[in-house]
Amino acid sequence: MTEKEQGPLDVVFEQIEEASRTMKLKDSVQTLLSHPKRKVEVSFPVEMDDGHTQLFKGYRTQHNDLLGPFKGGIRFHPSMTVEESQALGTWMTFKSALVQIPHGGAKGGVACDPSMLSDRELREVSRGYMEAFSDLFGAGRDVPAPDVYTDPKTMGIMMDTYSRIAGRHEAGVITGKPPLVGGSKARGAATAQGAVYVIEQMLEKMKQAPEHTRVAVQGFGNGGQIAARLLYDKGFKVVGVSDSKTALYDKEGLDIPKAQEAKENSGLKEYGAAFMLDSSEDVLYVDTDILIPAAMEGVITKNNASRIKAKHIMELANGPTTPEADHMLKEKDQHVYPDILVNAGGVIVSYLESVQNHMNYYWEEDEINERMKTFILEAYENTEETAASYQTTYRNGAMIFALQKLEQALEYRGYIS
Ligand code: GLU
Repeated sequence: MTEKEQGPLDVVFEQIEEASRTMKLKDSVQTLLSHPKRKVEVSFPVEMDDGHTQLFKGYRTQHNDLLGPFKGGIRFHPSMTVEESQALGTWMTFKSALVQIPHGGAKGGVACDPSMLSDRELREVSRGYMEAFSDLFGAGRDVPAPDVYTDPKTMGIMMDTYSRIAGRHEAGVITGKPPLVGGSKARGAATAQGAVYVIEQMLEKMKQAPEHTRVAVQGFGNGGQIAARLLYDKGFKVVGVSDSKTALYDKEGLDIPKAQEAKENSGLKEYGAAFMLDSSEDVLYVDTDILIPAAMEGVITKNNASRIKAKHIMELANGPTTPEADHMLKEKDQHVYPDILVNAGGVIVSYLESVQNHMNYYWEEDEINERMKTFILEAYENTEETAASYQTTYRNGAMIFALQKLEQALEYRGYIS
């Protein structure tokens, strides 16, 4: 029988606790950096297509803004709760601090199932959410962005709603917008592209060629699907992919454009029954060099960590690995590259989007990717160096580096001496 797993909030608290212990951070500072500045829950009504009015619950946790305005996505998901927004908002604080962008951390969302909503209903949910939180958001206050099941269209609608309320153009209130209405080029693929830069850098250090490197990707949404395609185009052998329904495996390497086409049509199963694993979860256990969990929190736990064969685990999702699983993987000499590093390409390009909004001048795709690469590879080096100097895991190294920056900011802003 499996015991109850740790929730995301337990996980992030334990990660902070472990890093604080390793670096001998003062208890009072740990407390200051663990607790959110503000957690807000709202209800707002939406008139549905069938004429009845439904109440939706929306959340926003503004965790920390020592380094700059709060920053972090908005998630539309049935399991969204205020606790989840707190956990994810806390990770954003550490992510921004690790990659050294001038932002704090926040996260929000709406408890809803977007697949059950019409386009009009989805638009009204997006407007209702932004309206409910319009006094908290703003370019110098809190800048949201896409997350699970929200996209550039959602961001465009929210930007429009905020601008209507403000009575002027407010492109900088939110990032991840379509480029035509103030978005940045390269934002759509940024999360996956950032992970690819980290993977390429790792291979370079190991002097290993992409052609001799197998990858499996769990999750075929915005992050996972684009990562699988970018890696396939670079010559990696993508041996496994999965979504919530289906897992595909081919030890010779899957044809990713074909898998994308299948997903677009009737689903991954269309790729061919001969390549299907028994269950979607099985993609985690295939024989591969790199495993990329790219869906949700809590998929690698003490109940299944022993079955994972990959030497390198690249966390494209937020919070996919629990601390107990982290320790089990470390014992087996398997390296977890933490979410706050691996998936930071998204928030880095979001930051570059807000820079462009402030300038009201827009860069080309290559220029943005080059800038993002500089940020993320510097964070990679800092993670590795900190981990080496404390003889600890990459996760703990990344957390310690972020905590050092946040502690310094507390001092510079006059909270501690
Ligand atoms: N939701 C993304 C993340 O978890 C992006 C946040 C942002 O761009 O502000 O990093």
